[in-house]
Formats: sequence, structure tokens, C-alpha cells
Amino acid sequence: MALTSSIDGATRLIGVLGWPIAHTRSPRMQNAAFAVLGLNLAYVPLAVPSERLQDAARGLAALGFVGANVTTPHKAAILPFLSEATPIVQALGAANTLLVQADGTLYGDNTDAYGFMADLKAHGVAVGRDLRALVIGAGGAARSVVYALAEAGAAVTVVNRTPEHADEVIRIVCAALPGASGQLTSAPFPSGLAGHSDADLVVNATSLGLHPESDSLPWDASIWLHPGQLVYDLVYGRTPFQAFARKCGARTVDGLGMLVHQGARAAALWTGEDEERLAQLMREELERQ
Ligand code: NAP
Repeated sequence: MALTSSIDGATRLIGVLGWPIAHTRSPRMQNAAFAVLGLNLAYVPLAVPSERLQDAARGLAALGFVGANVTTPHKAAILPFLSEATPIVQALGAANTLLVQADGTLYGDNTDAYGFMADLKAHGVAVGRDLRALVIGAGGAARSVVYALAEAGAAVTVVNRTPEHADEVIRIVCAALPGASGQLTSAPFPSGLAGHSDADLVVNATSLGLHPESDSLPWDASIWLHPGQLVYDLVYGRTPFQAFARKCGARTVDGLGMLVHQGARAAALWTGEDEERLAQLMREELERQ
């Protein structure tokens, strides 16, 4: 492989900490961008079980890592091991990007909300006070999405299987953005979908559509969507929900662009390279796969 043959004694490492981690697409897209830009960096998957997270966080500096991404299930659990964090990490209680600082301590950022908004922008969607959004799901990804939409002024309804989780997302976002409380409501999944099915933007932030639930819809197929709506599915690639939405005449976007933009933002922090160039190279690599 081109990458392993280019590793030498001066190569520096960046990792992604998760459990499990075998499914991650980040190494392919990050390494492809590093290679084109001639950066002597290698991005590696790091399978870290929860009980070893503290050891792994300490080990990043000890092993000379430049930084890392953090994915499921460690995005919230990593916070006690950070010496500094951006306001969005503090607001959401979750980090997905670490930078090892000169003194070996960890700086944490969260580029998921940014990645989501950057991809909406790339698809020509302007988010403002006149946008009504329906977010299905209330896990870690939904927190970033709801925060980003609320910060941009949109009215957001969070529909989730466990209603308490939807209320928790709203509580967290309102604590960070006190002015947003009037914009956010919650409803149970799936009964709450019908009352909000005409939203301008419908976001799937559940794991339905993703293996092992690849055939499941985060939707009630008796409720029709319509042209003019945008369905944004955080799951990468084609899903039954996107197929259903297109059949209804709605426009669809999958989660690949969000993956690219959150990754490019992180890589810009680690390398100082131009973020747009990084995003372009990462997208090209994912499209090749
Ligand atoms: P998570 O924290 O585990 O949350 C999963 C969400 O899905 C919860 O709201 C959960 O509801 C809901 N859910 C799971 N199974 C369900 C079912 N059978 N019926 C109804 N609801 C169900 O996961 P996450 O980290 O937020 O990730 C969510 C999705 O976003 C995943 O598909 C992930 O791959 C994707 N993602 C994409 C990007 C990107 O860059 N494109 C970034 C992050 C995440 P309960 O609260 O009731 O359990």
C-alpha cells in the first residue's frame, strides 16, 4: 500500500479512538488527504474500550501523537481528560477532536455541528429564523445538529423513541443558548412525526438505516413527505429512508458531506492546511471508495 510504504522514522501519528472502530472511514479519507498534500502523517484506528480510555488519552502525548478524533462511545467520556476545550465542547459535553499541546495536555474541540452546517451550506441550504426543522433522534449526533440549527435561529422539533432523551437534548441546548428556548420542542417517536412532517428540513439523527438496522426507516411510511423538503440523513450512503423521501419528491442528502467537513475542520487544526482543500481531497477519496 502507498501509505505504509511512505511511513518512515519521521512520520507522526493521528488516531481515532472508538469502540468498536473497524467500521470507521476516517483513516482512508484523512490519509488520502495527507498523502496528496505531502504531509508525513499517518492516521490510524485505535480500538479503545471504555475502561482504557484514560490510559489511551494519556498515551497520546507519550507516543508523540499530533492529535486524534474521538468517536462512539467516548465523545462525552473524554472530557475529564482535557485541559482545555472550546465553548461548544463545554456546551454539548462532547468532543470529537483532540490536539496534543506542546506540554502534552489535550485540547478538545467538537467539529460535528460545524460539519453539519458546512454541508448544508454546500447544498445551498440557508438556515435562519424562517426554517422549521424536524430532528429524529436524540443521541450524541442529534445534540450537535440541534445546537447548530438553534444557534442559526431555526425552530426545531426533536422526535425520539425515548422522550426523556429528547428533553435532555433541548435542556442542554437551551443551557448553552438561552435565547433558543422558544424555538425548541419535543415529541415522541413515531407518533410525533405526523404533526411535524411538513418541516422544511427533516434530519435523521438515529442509527436506523445503519447496519445492523439497514432496512429500518426512522419514519412512518404512511406519512408522505413532499417536494420542497430536504431530508438530511446522517447515515452515510444510500438508505431506505432516502429512497422513500425521493419517492415522495423530497430532496435528500446523506451523511458523507458532514463526515468530510467535520474531518477537514479537524485536519486543519492538526496541520494548518487549508480546510477547503482538505475537504475536497477527503470527498474525492470517499467518492472513489
Ligand atoms: P447514539 O448516541 O447511539 O443515538 C442513537 C439515536 O437513535 C437515539 O436517539 C436512539 O433513540 C435512536 N434509535 C436507535 N435505535 C432506534 C430504534 N430502533 N427506533 C427508534 N430510535 C432508535 O448515536 P449517534 O452517535 O447520535 O449517531 C446517530 C447516527 O448519526 C448514526 O447513524 C451515526 O452513524 C450518524 N452520525 C453521522 C455523522 C456524520 O458525520 N455523518 C456523525 C455522527 C453520527 P433512544 O434515545 O430512544 O435510544
